[in-house]
Amino acid sequence: SPRTSSTGFTIATPLSTASTDAADYAPISITNKGVTMKNPFEGKQIWLLTGSQGLYGEETLAQVAEQSQQVAALLNQSGDIPIEVVWRPVLTDSESILRAMLDAGSDDSVIGVIAWMHTFSPAKMWIRGLEALRKPLLHLHTQANEALPWDTIDMDFMNLNQAAHGDREFGYILTRLGIARTTVVGYAGHHDVTGRIGIWARAAAGWDAAQHLSLARFGDNMRYVAVTEGDKTEAEIRFGASVNTWGINDLAQAIAQVTDAQIDELITEYLASYDVAPELLPDGARHESLRYAASQEVALRTLLESIGATAFTDTFEDLGALRQLPGLAVQRLMTEGYGFGAEGDWKTAVLVRIAKVMGYGLPGGASLMEDYCYNFVPGEQKILGAHMLEICPSLTDDRPRLEIHPLGIGDRKDPVRLVFDATPRPGLVVALSDLRDRFRLTANVVEVVEPDQPLPNLPVARAVWRPAPDLATSASCWLAAGAAHHTVMTTAVPLEAWHDFAAIAGVELAVIDEQTTARRFEDELRWSAVYYRVSQGL
Ligand code: MN
Repeated sequence: SPRTSSTGFTIATPLSTASTDAADYAPISITNKGVTMKNPFEGKQIWLLTGSQGLYGEETLAQVAEQSQQVAALLNQSGDIPIEVVWRPVLTDSESILRAMLDAGSDDSVIGVIAWMHTFSPAKMWIRGLEALRKPLLHLHTQANEALPWDTIDMDFMNLNQAAHGDREFGYILTRLGIARTTVVGYAGHHDVTGRIGIWARAAAGWDAAQHLSLARFGDNMRYVAVTEGDKTEAEIRFGASVNTWGINDLAQAIAQVTDAQIDELITEYLASYDVAPELLPDGARHESLRYAASQEVALRTLLESIGATAFTDTFEDLGALRQLPGLAVQRLMTEGYGFGAEGDWKTAVLVRIAKVMGYGLPGGASLMEDYCYNFVPGEQKILGAHMLEICPSLTDDRPRLEIHPLGIGDRKDPVRLVFDATPRPGLVVALSDLRDRFRLTANVVEVVEPDQPLPNLPVARAVWRPAPDLATSASCWLAAGAAHHTVMTTAVPLEAWHDFAAIAGVELAVIDEQTTARRFEDELRWSAVYYRVSQGL
């Protein structure tokens, strides 16, 4: 049954809940959007490392091994963790611990490590291994049994089940070494425990995607804009994302090479997936505009695949020989899992890609979003978000309309775009700012709602939301944080996943939620400024 996280998201895996093997998770079919994202978790693993020591003797260690395999089975059977948890042999000395960490680091399929000190595992044995660990860590503070066996407990039981202090020894060395981790406490058969591990697994998968993220920029940032600038080298050091530029006319050439057959195939898909405006239909007056949009989609996908990119940007100020600003093509590529940022905003494109991976298979979606206009009516205060064209249809459960309208900006022909309202759901908007000496993530908990009235004259996809705790506090905190006007909006990825991701990356996450007051938030920014300055050293 669905469960609710502390941020109001439903923690449910709509995929096969009986599955114990990540390979069994089939890609979901997004029939109302025409495109499907490939399962990014396929073939990935999380290792469960169990700590103990040789002192206990072989009989006890055999029990430790058996019980930790049962814990791995509970995690996999929960249906809450979208990535396979693989049990590894019990670790009892520093050499085997170092070996396990090096192996986890060098195995591309391993996206994270769960550690549990079933018994007492003297933590100096873990120092070299933890210093060699290159993958995200979750400290699972659990024990094999759910209930304390009050009437039968004896010293043998006490000798075997020592996580309550074994994990404290482990926590000490993690803290002393400054190892970032997520700590989860409880019985492995409880859904609050496995649900939380599942969220961390998603964050670890997002981190893995960031580490292998290649971003293609078509054109530079919008002229004179500050917040979309940033240190691309630092982005690769901090997140792994490699941000590089391609000429817009590379794309124009690729468009010219698209065949009629490729275009026909997409037109068929558009007609099946969307409510197409009559003028864009095959016998309509503006069908050629739709065919050109389809050629942009084919060319973009082909080019991105050929360079191994999973995210991209464009800019209306540098369209070269392109006849339309890409709208439909960008919307569909985002649905397929690509990150995208407009006006050269590569930082937001990185966030969109990470959100796509972290939220895979969950209800809701992720998109580039831009804060546009306010409704300041007392009691009805809301933000209207949209973009010129490029909002991802993963945010809607409705069947989008495929339309063509003029666009004053960009100096090109009228672009084709999908138009829809984002479906009401709890959500988040997350922005990434470059504060020169470091990056800051800022997140606002929001509630996507229905527009107060239909928006018949608005020719773009949009979302209307109530920001927590209220519009005035949200916006004043957002401005104090120096957070961007471009965000990723996600209605699939809960706040805890971003919290875990930020911890893995060692990046600040400033959160605006129901508990936030402007005064406390501004204090947190000041404390964080000191912390991150000090923690990065000289
Ligand atoms: Mn913009």
